[in-house]
Parts: sequence; structure tokens; C-alpha cells
Amino acid sequence: MYGEEERRPLSERPGNFKRHKTNQNLGDHIMDFALTQEQLELKELTHQFAANEIRPHAGEYDEKNEFPMEVMKKAFEIGFLTSGIPVEYGGTGFSNVDNIVVCEELGWGCAGMFTSMMANTLATTPIVLFGSDEQKKEFLAPLTKEMSFACFGLTEREAGSDNSMIRTTARKDGDYYILNGSKTFITNAGVAKLGVIFASTDKTRGARGISAFIVPMDLPGITVGKHENKMGHRSSNTAEIYLDEVKVPAKNLLRREGMGFIIAMKTLDFARPAVGAGAVGVARAAYEEALKYGQTRIQFGKPIAHFQHNAFKLVDMITDIEAARLMVYRSGW
Ligand SMILES: Cc1cc2nc3c(=O)[nH]c(=O)nc-3n(C[C@H](O)[C@H](O)[C@H](O)COP(=O)(O)OP(=O)(O)OC[C@H]3O[C@@H](n4cnc5c(N)ncnc54)[C@H](O)[C@@H]3O)c2cc1C
Repeated sequence: MYGEEERRPLSERPGNFKRHKTNQNLGDHIMDFALTQEQLELKELTHQFAANEIRPHAGEYDEKNEFPMEVMKKAFEIGFLTSGIPVEYGGTGFSNVDNIVVCEELGWGCAGMFTSMMANTLATTPIVLFGSDEQKKEFLAPLTKEMSFACFGLTEREAGSDNSMIRTTARKDGDYYILNGSKTFITNAGVAKLGVIFASTDKTRGARGISAFIVPMDLPGITVGKHENKMGHRSSNTAEIYLDEVKVPAKNLLRREGMGFIIAMKTLDFARPAVGAGAVGVARAAYEEALKYGQTRIQFGKPIAHFQHNAFKLVDMITDIEAARLMVYRSGW
């Protein structure tokens, strides 16, 4: 559609652009990437936290494959473990962009610690987005009172990318649902007080038969596997969850039966930019190390970064990082 209105000179219609359908496209507002003053301060605060509280301990926890409880206590005090919980329920209540700013700096500090902090937000997001006011008061508010962890239980051994194929079941029994099955690669499973667990309430309906439950992790019938021995993110607790006739109150169902897949996908829409931001932080840290080494390692009488081939490599790295950051920020904007 390109009519009379669209042909009017731009100077004659200041501030009027957004009302036009032709302007409702990807790429609108593309130049407006400035962070607010508050976000710049948040970035600096998080960077200082990453530099002073995370970095000095990152190597040790990674090597020991151990969950960094002491660092987490400090992260809780500052509000990084309750980032996704709205202020009215006692959380930090970050916006998407605030969260991205924070995640990039935490990822710069340590990928594993970042993953565990971010997973708390991943796990609370289904409740924030789809929980009733009573569920939010009952399950979110306590997480803000004392340091506690939550986990998001979607993945199973045979259902990773294709998570509509989950086999864990939930059968209704009076005022309860009885959960059976197992979950794999679940961040914070070994330390979580609360889980959001996805299970099929109707196997015949595939993805539309999946439901989401808020599950206190101390219920009888729940056991958690060992802290997985991963190649990276080692300080982050990743473990399996086994559910054997776990009796979950029916009031802990999020929304209604069959909504689980939508709840999972909407939650991941929020989590993915944060994961991307963490990855940008990790890449930035790697670049900084490479640059430092290139500038201080002397061969043939000069720093190796001064050899053109290495300089090109460093420039390629920072170009890719800048491009990735722009995409991540745009996705969370
Ligand atoms: C550190 C860590 C923490 C995690 N934390 C959680 C958590 O807290 N909660 C949770 O529920 N899950 C968690 N996961 C699981 C994670 O979500 C899955 O690993 C992810 O969904 C991929 O599944 P998969 O590992 O089974 O890989 P697969 O699905 O088996 O994929 C293997 C490869 O095939 C590719 N592939 C798959 N399908 C396609 C396709 N259609 N087209 C092209 N390529 C394809 C994938 O990209 C990948 O490279 C975690 C995983 C890790 C490693």
C-alpha cells in the first residue's frame, strides 16, 4: 500500500510515522539502541560484581565441579537470583533489556555461575507469566525472602530440542496429580526448593496434552541425580530429576491442562535473549584474554598481535561479538 498519505514529505508529518502500517515492519526503531542511565549504572554494578565476586572464584569452582553457594549468597543479596520476579512479589523486577545487560556481565564473569543465576529466572518465568495471584504469592514471594533456587524441568533423555516428545506423565487423582517420569540436564535441580515440571496429562494429544506444574522439590517420590561432570558451565548444578508417584496438589497446575507446551515456549521466548547475552559475555571475555595475550607475547621482536594475520583474527572476533550483541539486544527489546 503506497498511497497519497505515504507520498507526503516526511517533514510535514513529524512524529506521525508509527501510525502507518507500512512502518510496522522489522527494522522499525532500529537506530535507538541507547541504554538508559539506570541501565548503564546496572551494567557497571554487575560488572563490578562479576569482577570482584565471581571472577576470583570461577576457576576454583569450575575445577572442583562444585556449586558456588558462597557467591550465590552475594548474588541473592544484590537481587540477581530474583531478577524475573516482579517487584510486587518482592523480586528485582528487571525488564527484558535490564536482564540482558546483567546477563552479559554475569556471563563475562563465569558461564557456570551465570547459568545458575539465570536458571532461577527461567524457572520463575512460567509462574510470572501464567500463575494466578495466589500461586505467585505462595510460590514466588518465599524465593525473595531467603536465598533459594528454582528449576525448570522440561528436557528429558529422549526429548531435547523436540521437547513435545516428553514422556513424563501426570494423572489426575482427586485433588492431586500423580507425576511419574524423569527429567535430564536440569539446571539447579540439586539445590532447588521449587520446580516447574512439564508432564503429559493426555498422551494422545502430543504437545497439546502437556501441562505445567509447580512442584515443591521436597515432595516424597522426588530424587535428584549427581551434579553432572560437564565440559563447561561446571560450577552450575545440572542434574537429573526422577519422579516416582509424586503427589502434586491440583492447585499447583499452571492455568489448565494442555497449556504446558505454550507455557514452555513463551517462557523460552524470554529466556533465550538472556542465554544469548550470557554467550556474548563469554565471547567478550575470551576476546579480552586473546587481545591481552596478543599484546604481551613477544616474538620476532614485537607483540604477536602486530602480525597482520593475528590482527585480522582479533578484528573478526570483535566484529562477530558486536553483531551478536546487537542481535541479542534487539531480540530482547
Ligand atoms: C548446561 C545445560 C543446562 C541445561 N539446563 C536445562 C534446564 O534447566 N531445563 C531444561 O529443561 N533443560 C535444560 N537443558 C537442556 C537443553 O535445553 C537441551 O540440551 C536442549 O534442548 C537440546 O537438547 P539435546 O541436548 O537433547 O540435543 P538434541 O536435541 O539431541 O540435539 C543435538 C543436535 O542436533 C541439532 N538439532 C536438533 N534438532 C534439529 C533440527 N530440527 N534441525 C537442525 N538441527 C537440529 C541440535 O541443534 C544439536 O546440535 C540444559 C542443557 C545444558 C547443556
